[in-house]
Amino acid sequence: MMDQARAVLRDTYGYDDFRGEQAAAIQAVLKGRDALVIMPTGGGKSVCYQIPALVLTGTAVIVSPLIALMEDQVAALKLLGIEAEVLNSSVDRQQQQAIETRLRKGEIKLLYMAPERLLLPYSLDMLSSIDISLFAVDEAHCVSQWGHDFRQDYLGLGQLKQRFAQVPVIALTATADARTREDIIENLHLHSPERLIGGFDRPNIRYTVAPKQDARRQLKQFLSQHEGEAGVIYCMSRKKTEETASWLSGLGYTALPYHAGLPAALKTTHQQRFLREEAVIIVATIAFGMGIDKPDVRFVVHLDLPKTIESYYQETGRAGRDGEPAEAWLVYGLQDVVRLGQMVDNSSLSPEHKRFERNKLNQLLGWCEATTCRRHALLNYFDEASPEACGNCDVCLSPPKTLDGTEAAQKLLSTIYRTGQRFGAGHVIDVLRGKESDKVFQSEHHQLSVFGIGKERTAAQWQSLLRQLIVQGYVYSDSERFGALRLQEKSRALLRGDITLSVREDPPAPTRTAKTTSSGGKRGVNVPEEEMDLWEALRACRSRLASEQNVPPYVVFHDATLMQMLELKPASEAALGEISGVGEAKLQRYATDFLATIAAFNNQPAQEEIR
Ligand code: ADP
Ligand code: ZN
Repeated sequence: MMDQARAVLRDTYGYDDFRGEQAAAIQAVLKGRDALVIMPTGGGKSVCYQIPALVLTGTAVIVSPLIALMEDQVAALKLLGIEAEVLNSSVDRQQQQAIETRLRKGEIKLLYMAPERLLLPYSLDMLSSIDISLFAVDEAHCVSQWGHDFRQDYLGLGQLKQRFAQVPVIALTATADARTREDIIENLHLHSPERLIGGFDRPNIRYTVAPKQDARRQLKQFLSQHEGEAGVIYCMSRKKTEETASWLSGLGYTALPYHAGLPAALKTTHQQRFLREEAVIIVATIAFGMGIDKPDVRFVVHLDLPKTIESYYQETGRAGRDGEPAEAWLVYGLQDVVRLGQMVDNSSLSPEHKRFERNKLNQLLGWCEATTCRRHALLNYFDEASPEACGNCDVCLSPPKTLDGTEAAQKLLSTIYRTGQRFGAGHVIDVLRGKESDKVFQSEHHQLSVFGIGKERTAAQWQSLLRQLIVQGYVYSDSERFGALRLQEKSRALLRGDITLSVREDPPAPTRTAKTTSSGGKRGVNVPEEEMDLWEALRACRSRLASEQNVPPYVVFHDATLMQMLELKPASEAALGEISGVGEAKLQRYATDFLATIAAFNNQPAQEEIR
């Protein structure tokens, strides 16, 4: 049966080899075993249940939490020539009956359903009367009450193993931690499942963390290197998503806000535009993203800190699913550090749960301040061995300067102490820099010996140092007292000079004149200048076909497939069929258009010949 599976991968999908744990997952299901598949976003989970669905007799039922996503997946499968349907609230009675008739005849290979629909007694009875090949539970971490994505409906999926005892269940997720894994196995009643845990590295994603200096200017500079590309920008508040989106629109970008407070119709429109048009930027809260499987997201930006390393990894994992170069870019500053700590402290969580969250936050902050390879640290966090340096993160690419910050730290700690450990960062830094503010005079802090002892550093430099002192546990920002800074036990040794402190020097802020300079490295997908016209023609051809069929462009072909066309310039159907991502159905459907587009360029004499 594995031979058959390989043939399907080659002929239907147009791919040469299985990736990572795909083959093992498929084999388990083909043998009738339950399986738990953990792969990073973009790892290729869908193939793990789609191929068994095509090889086995009967219908595979796919459970997925998001309706829009299911519809897109079904559209994509149909273009591959696969019999797939979705049963959800957008399907009317007549369509439903037609689908049910085809189900009874065994004509449908994959049936997508939301859990609440699947669990209706009517649906379960209907499914009992047909031949089911397997159940696939996508985004399976939604059954875990510990995760952020818990869905009550998912808990009910435990019934499946009872009602359909002989049918294998394959659960899939990108969430790695051990507790979630055990929750999935337990709540879905998986029967000694094959556990397939793929490597977590996403080598095509470049990780960059930048200290926040002037976030908008920094963002503008970052985006100037990503003209014409699609991306996601995460912000903490709804208001900020809207403000940022309208600011970006003013700069000429297609930027759309997305958050839980928007009307449902608008959310759907924005999501659809992101999926269907090229180069749309979504500015969102964390409400956006789960189940968005757009493969050509070229960047994920965090303008505010994510909550934990796990959420950071999941959010950034939405970039570059197609394996082409992509960027994860995060800016953060002192205020984020203080604010997130306050959010945990002021939450209604139990003391134990607060400690847990604080700890998670500190791990994230420590990672942000890292002076060693970021990828290595991330993978290490997920218990995966990796080389010490990846060559594709900001630390590897331009190692940060570290300085002896002992003396500066002593000045800062003394100032916090002398001002009575009652003030926040702004005032403490004013005193250090000898600023004659009203508050300084009111509190008579201009009389202190520490007044003005830190004039040699800018306010931004002091903030950077303070941020590092908080992250390293020398200073505590007390949220019950409005962010008043307090010394910690640990700071004593530093004040006495018993230990030294090494600090990161923040790179200089982008200058006012910084603007679109690079055009060579502009695109994540690197197209040589002289090929630009053919590239645009191929993209236009793809867009036209996509809109004719009312599917997103990437469903027609991925960028990677277009890139290969650009390189190989196939002149025959056979040659086109060799390209990765071109299966039989797509070859039939699209060969004429793409071959014509390429031929139009091939026939033009090359520049040299003219001369
Ligand atoms: P996930 O659900 O794990 O995030 P997908 O199933 O959407 O990932 O797959 C990510 C992308 O990788 C898809 O566009 C898919 O077509 C592609 N892909 C999957 N398996 C292979 C493979 N064996 N070879 C090449 N590309 C693949
Ligand atoms: Zn690195």
